[in-house]
Amino acid sequence: MKRLGLLLVGVAFCSSMMMAHAQEESGQLLPTLLPLNVIPKPLRVAVVVNKPSVKVTIGGTNEIRGLEGEPLFIENKGSFHGTMKATQYGIQINQTFAQVRKLELKSNEGKIAVNGRLYTGTFIVYVDPGKGLTFVHDVSVEEYLRGVLPLEVNPRWPVEALKAQAVVARTFALFKAIEKKDQPYMLTDKVTSQVYGGELYRQKATDEAVRLTQGEVLTYQNQIIPAYFHANCGGRTEKADEVWPVVPNPVLQGVVCLYCKGLKHSSWSLSLPLKDIEKVMQKRGYPAKNLSGLLFEDFDLSGRSRKVRLKYPYGEAVIKADDFRSFIGNDRLKSLKVQVTVKEGVAHFKGKGWGHGIGFCQWGAKGQAAQGRNYREILLFYFPGSEIMRL
Ligand SMILES: [Zn+2]
Repeated sequence: MKRLGLLLVGVAFCSSMMMAHAQEESGQLLPTLLPLNVIPKPLRVAVVVNKPSVKVTIGGTNEIRGLEGEPLFIENKGSFHGTMKATQYGIQINQTFAQVRKLELKSNEGKIAVNGRLYTGTFIVYVDPGKGLTFVHDVSVEEYLRGVLPLEVNPRWPVEALKAQAVVARTFALFKAIEKKDQPYMLTDKVTSQVYGGELYRQKATDEAVRLTQGEVLTYQNQIIPAYFHANCGGRTEKADEVWPVVPNPVLQGVVCLYCKGLKHSSWSLSLPLKDIEKVMQKRGYPAKNLSGLLFEDFDLSGRSRKVRLKYPYGEAVIKADDFRSFIGNDRLKSLKVQVTVKEGVAHFKGKGWGHGIGFCQWGAKGQAAQGRNYREILLFYFPGSEIMRL
């Protein structure tokens, strides 16, 4: 379960950073409701982003074609196996060079392996000459979820917790799909979106959870919501617009959750020498010599800190707690529901929960399912006022 927590904390950090950047660029709050009338199909999921060299296997008769008018330049009658590289002018596929910016990979068997991971369907490859290749998998949302759930949740958990996670993951993916419908891809396979491993990671129990909730998403006023999730809320979930530059949404206001209490990640501690924190801060460009103490401040209703005060012999610096957490590492400073004491040059952190705390608390969902609550009850608990709609 260590992996689970690590992945989810990644979601917390990266999403918040991306949101912060998006807001800086646009100066506007990001939406928390999107209309469901145009759902782009299929999902476009980047499984490789801007890498100079990628190993590819295409099963059976296959096609590698240039798109946007470039002529067909390779066709294999047997299986294709080789390396694709970004060159100064385009792409090298084994010993063949082509000046193209976009390719399509197709297989009559439908099986394509990219860097050893197996997928079904079609890939679009974007070529950035001299830099890298981006591989985008065209996949239906239901197939995608079968490759997500086993990596985001423990398949041995009670089925109602798995079903709740399936609805959350579907809602999150489709919200992103609508939000980014005009971009080359809507999601990556990393923690910044949801972890997606393709076919080899599928598990019977999680496949079943996807099937039993097929097409179901969380909505508010007939619009889809961004169904954020995290590992363990530590007793109370967070109000989304308290942390991120997003439009306030009644279903993302935070709730008291006692179901994760005593379960994994509900409390944690960490000891770090101040010298180590100095090093981290210096790396990020903060003058941080002779750090003598630190303090979390500005706690919100959910008990999470918004600011960290760093103390030096010559003065103090205050930085965003979110930034501080990411500098130290979201897998080490697991949440901002935290207090710190400094003794003999060592900072001792004591905290609750793991992740940003917004939306769905995974361990809480497990706790609720263990008490006999069904997935609908669990979802409406974490997203009060929302509805479950079948698309
Ligand atoms: Zn919880």
